[in-house]
Amino acid sequence: MTARKNHRWGDKQEFPLAHKSERSCLNGCGITKVTRHETEGGRDIYWTEFWRRGERMHGIRTPLCESAEAPAA
Ligand SMILES: [Zn+2]
Repeated sequence: MTARKNHRWGDKQEFPLAHKSERSCLNGCGITKVTRHETEGGRDIYWTEFWRRGERMHGIRTPLCESAEAPAA
């Protein structure tokens, strides 16, 4: 069995002044998905960043959900 575990994103937290919203994974992998929003030249631009324990994860589109403890699911 090589089932790939999906993140379980928690409630979205909005940060309107920072133009972003955050959702943290509830599986305990420590990853936070950050959706950023900027307006540039009248166009809205959205992108997604992944952060783990205060550090941005570069070069990875969607990091795997690897929690320290495997929750019984
Ligand atoms: Zn996860």
